[in-house]
Amino acid sequence: MKFTDTRTGKPTDLAFSDVVVKGIAPTKGLFVPTELPPITHDELLALAELPYWQQAATIYRLFGVDFDDEQIDTIMQQAYGEQWDDEQVAPITTLDGNTHVLELYRGPTSAFKDMALQCMPLFLSASLEKLRAAGLHDNDLLMLVATSGDTGKAALDGFADRVHTNIIVFYPEEGVSDLQKAQMTTQTGDNVAVFGVRGNFDDCQNAVKATFADDQFNQWLDHDPDLALSSANSINWGRLMPQIVYYLSATARLMRDGKLGEGQLLDVAVPTGNFGNILAAWYAKQMGAPIGRLICASNSNNVLTDFIKTGTYDIAERPFFETPSPSMDILISSNLERLLYHLAGAEKTVAWMTDLKEKGAFTVDEATLETLQSEFWAGWRSDDESLDQIRRSWKKHHYLVDPHTAVGIDVAADAAGDNPVLVVSTAHWSKFAPSVLRALTKTSFSDPLPEPYVDHSDFEALDDVVALAPDASPVPESIDALRGSEVRFDKVIDATPTDIEDAVRSWVLTRKN
Ligand SMILES: *Cc1c(COP(=O)(O)O)cnc(C)c1O
Repeated sequence: MKFTDTRTGKPTDLAFSDVVVKGIAPTKGLFVPTELPPITHDELLALAELPYWQQAATIYRLFGVDFDDEQIDTIMQQAYGEQWDDEQVAPITTLDGNTHVLELYRGPTSAFKDMALQCMPLFLSASLEKLRAAGLHDNDLLMLVATSGDTGKAALDGFADRVHTNIIVFYPEEGVSDLQKAQMTTQTGDNVAVFGVRGNFDDCQNAVKATFADDQFNQWLDHDPDLALSSANSINWGRLMPQIVYYLSATARLMRDGKLGEGQLLDVAVPTGNFGNILAAWYAKQMGAPIGRLICASNSNNVLTDFIKTGTYDIAERPFFETPSPSMDILISSNLERLLYHLAGAEKTVAWMTDLKEKGAFTVDEATLETLQSEFWAGWRSDDESLDQIRRSWKKHHYLVDPHTAVGIDVAADAAGDNPVLVVSTAHWSKFAPSVLRALTKTSFSDPLPEPYVDHSDFEALDDVVALAPDASPVPESIDALRGSEVRFDKVIDATPTDIEDAVRSWVLTRKN
């Protein structure tokens, strides 16, 4: 498997293990596979007969990743093992004849990030071992992650106790729910740390970014504790590969079960933020999976809806909204660059990325827009509209969904054509219990919750929802267990690079001794 840099369009001689360690190209471009391996109808059908870990191993082998079979098997068994609460890892629930939901939240942190982050850190550790054995890399990695919620916990869980890696997560004190905070501050593992940061997510992210750019600090890390900073963020190819797997797996299972007929295409609806999840569906389609339209669902941060409808991506004058689906509150969808490269080539991609940086906007040419619209369809939903859909899914199908998934279901209903639709569910409802409580009590976001719910904490809201919807899918054990878990990390720091660096330095030095 070889990789091309989206900013040069030239194939590199890097292998899978190299791009997983590097994350991003020196040009600041993203790595994309130079060629995608095709998958035949029969190969796809055969997948459905395998346990999930073997499906994943099969796809990685098809891509020709630079690990031997045994190593791939060992990693996949570990990544997709007992920590999932369903044997199928990503089970499919059929709502009505034509609408199916792919549940990507059955992992240890109850959000879809687990699909990639239970797998990628294992390949990263193995890649570092490989480079080490060849004398090409001697530092351990230190991941610094600024998170608005879901990613931080999923990354902590994925990297905890993985060799050659350490992880420190910074979360905005004001920006995460009590439940998300409890998920992070109770994290176990010797190579992890968590800090609250005063301010909002932007303050937190900017301070962490400045730390990455501080040469002196990076030199200190490199020379003394032998560490190199890394971000393991969602543009790493190692995080996209596991996402391609579940689309191939899902189409295979629907075909096997007769829910996707011979010659039929499956539309896929994805609640989208950074464009990683939906891009993985596009890759699966290019490989030969019978996928039709890709339905890109957004909340009121609807920059992607406008882009797909008009060809102009414009964040210059766009307000940023905090919505009940915070993991989709994103204005710069980093993975879009990969799609632009595949549709239009490196030269145009570089020009558009430059426009975005300098003017806050870019417009693609007619031909690119036409191809884009032939494959993608887009829509968005307001906060209250997504609550409405939570309530309707519950009433009509007795199926309780979180606010991200609700946006996906609602937009998919609008897009409905003749094809069966697979809606991707990205979080368990319990992670967003206060919003679900609003939905079930018909309380708009502009009103306070009625008695007796007013002023209830996240955990009380969880109990309230269970009381109102006792036969909804049960609260995952790991979420329930948070109530009694010991808080390991209670430090809160200021949102400055100096405070971030001090926090990192003291943690690193304490660990060394
Ligand atoms: C990360 C996330 C998304 C957005 O996925 P992208 O790959 O960034 O488009 C949607 N829903 C939930 C719950 C998430 O955690």
